Amino acid sequence: MTLLNHLDAPPAGIFSLPAHALAEALGGPTLFRLDGTRAGAPLFVSTLLHGNETSGWTALCRLMQDPPESMRPLIVFIGNPAAASRRVRHLPEEPDFNRIWCGGSAGHRALTEAVVHEATKQPLFAAVDLHNNTGRNPHYSVVTALEDRHLNLAYLFSDKAVYVEEPDTVLTRALQHHCASIAVELGPINDPRSDDLAEDLLRRAVTEADLPTTHENLTLYRSLARVHIADGVDFSFDDSPAKLRLTGGMEAVNFHAVPEHTPFGLSGEPLGHVVTVLDSSHNVVTEDFFYSTSGEIRFRRAVVPAMYTTDPEVVRQDCLCYLMTPMR
Ligand SMILES: [Zn+2]
Repeated sequence: MTLLNHLDAPPAGIFSLPAHALAEALGGPTLFRLDGTRAGAPLFVSTLLHGNETSGWTALCRLMQDPPESMRPLIVFIGNPAAASRRVRHLPEEPDFNRIWCGGSAGHRALTEAVVHEATKQPLFAAVDLHNNTGRNPHYSVVTALEDRHLNLAYLFSDKAVYVEEPDTVLTRALQHHCASIAVELGPINDPRSDDLAEDLLRRAVTEADLPTTHENLTLYRSLARVHIADGVDFSFDDSPAKLRLTGGMEAVNFHAVPEHTPFGLSGEPLGHVVTVLDSSHNVVTEDFFYSTSGEIRFRRAVVPAMYTTDPEVVRQDCLCYLMTPMR
């Protein structure tokens, strides 16, 4: 059983350690409080729920090495240092640590209950869960509820946000009834801009007196479905021969509207043998989004792709892309 390492203060020197050295210093998932230089409700910051997504930790170290003169208290949760030490999303024998909340994993209930208990025993200014992602995307927030406070916080980070209903076992959802709660997708690991975006968000969140009171100019999308390539189907993103040849240039239209009938790929196989589309309830809805004619796969309806990636490993482990629709 994984338990929470709950500390009253950060261990000395912790903010000079790289993410992969945290497991040795902390043991396991760790929560600590950082006193601010002014009173106020703390900001809850979580990072490394996915061990290889290090921009959030890098940004937190930069913030604490050069803290602003006046800052609110922080509650910091370092999610999965063991995975960070091996530079992986999660350990193969363990679940994804952003799928264990809201009753998601019995073996991790003691951990998740302890984190939520510690986080919610005082009013929080807001909760921000820091993630990197893959593919060429703008930076955006993820909300799991549509109340104004979440959207206002989302707008503090970006003018784009995605409303997701699935997976429903994410940390953002576990805190959404308590305070404004978002996850942020900073961009790729190893892109210095991702670290900068995280640092900028943290600096503003610890110094601003209040959250934005509007999100009028926020472009909000609803996530509809995930596109998977069927197991065992080889694929290519150029003209090289493969069972499924994906149309080039899709990654470049992440977060752009794509009209119906837009080409998606070429395959001599029946549509359902090469591509699987799952909706937020895990139903197979491939035919709602694509059709195939004379070996050409096209979009059946207008969508907005997100996180379309040409990294074969990510395609296999996670998915090829998400499909969204504008909400406003
Ligand atoms: Zn992540």
